[in-house]
Amino acid sequence: ETNSVENKNNYKYHNGGRVPVGIGRKRKRIVVTGGAGFVGSHLVDKLIARGDDVIVIDNFFTGRKENVVHLFGNPRFELIRHDVVEPILLEVDQIYHLACPASPVHYKYNPVKNIKTNVMGTLNMLGLAKRIGARFLLTSTSEVYGDPLEHPQKETYWGHVNPIGVRSCYDEGKRTAETLTMDYHRGAGIEVRIARIFNTYGPRMCLDDGRVVSNFVSQVIRKQPMTVYGDGKQTRSFQYVSDLVDGLVALMENEHVGPFNLGNPGEFTMLELAEVVKETIDPGAKIEFKPNTADDPHKRKPDISKAKELLNWEPKISLHKGLPLMVTDFQNRILNEDEGKGN
Ligand code: NAD
Ligand code: UDP
Ligand code: UDP
Repeated sequence: ETNSVENKNNYKYHNGGRVPVGIGRKRKRIVVTGGAGFVGSHLVDKLIARGDDVIVIDNFFTGRKENVVHLFGNPRFELIRHDVVEPILLEVDQIYHLACPASPVHYKYNPVKNIKTNVMGTLNMLGLAKRIGARFLLTSTSEVYGDPLEHPQKETYWGHVNPIGVRSCYDEGKRTAETLTMDYHRGAGIEVRIARIFNTYGPRMCLDDGRVVSNFVSQVIRKQPMTVYGDGKQTRSFQYVSDLVDGLVALMENEHVGPFNLGNPGEFTMLELAEVVKETIDPGAKIEFKPNTADDPHKRKPDISKAKELLNWEPKISLHKGLPLMVTDFQNRILNEDEGKGN
């Protein structure tokens, strides 16, 4: 293990501490795990645009090189194919830990692997943060509230989660990741941040990842009916990805540990969402009802007073404004797919 490493950013790392070397602009070196995924790739774009050096760690389970291909050749960008379940040695200032599939279809595909990613992956990134004195941000989820008995959900709510259900690998995995994060903070004095992210949509989502916004948009572009699960009266609050990325950076740069809810409080039933998708893409679009999945939360809406007050953050883009931005990206990718180019 290297005990002293000089990097190009005027820092020297020595025995786990960070020592400035000379003067100059303090460009940060940042790791983004899961940086080839939907949210991660947008975050990486923002950090690179700000002038920082970014290392993406991704095993490409749900991420795609296409999401970051525009950064290939940029000397400030580095991509490492690596599974966070395995340890890794790096020297950085900040760690944004996103690696974990977010769609229920993806995490249910291999639930045990999902738990390993959340527990061992988070442990490794916290061990890394401890060794090099980096600040660590966990992207947790509104799923820690489970099928909530409080509405809207505040950060003080402890949740209503089934420990043995088909969603538990994700819900309980993230809850454990939050626990680990706080234990490293309290026990090892690591600087940590916790974001609880509510449903987010935008360009670069996987076309067929099974989440409701990507499903409805792909279905209507392909002239298929939108699949509404259950009676469609369950609610979610949909946040546009650039709002989330702004919130994650604000959280990382501020002094508060959290947890902070990051979401758009606009609440929609799935039937209302289908209406918005219809208005945006094709007024003739149809819906079809399908049986709902097990343990589906009935409602979800963030109380974001804490982030508003302490991070001075709130979402700016409504569903009506954000959806068309995603639709353009999906139309292009579905067209390419139809022309046999893949995506
Ligand atoms: P995503 O599936 O698009 O991205 C996850 C990325 O992590 C992918 O690039 C994937 O290949 C990578 N990954 C998965 N397992 C890995 C492993 N073991 N090692 C290395 N890389 C691995 O999902 P997203 O929507 O971008 O979500 C990013 C983060 O935000 C996740 O932690 C997710 O739980 C959290 N989150 C997202 C939402 C949302 O609505 N998008 C909501 C709540 C929380
Ligand atoms: N770890 C890592 N990179 C590092 C430092 C640690 O991947 O730079 C991993 C390490 O392999 C271990 C985990 O992080 O599995 C937790 O590390 P910590 O030092 O906290 O615990 P220990 O190694 O003592 O179990
Ligand atoms: N859903 C739906 N049709 C779909 C996919 C999902 O009606 O094609 C519903 C799902 O039952 C849930 C809501 O949409 O009530 C949000 O599901 P998603 O998987 O997007 O996110 P999560 O359940 O993790 O909030």
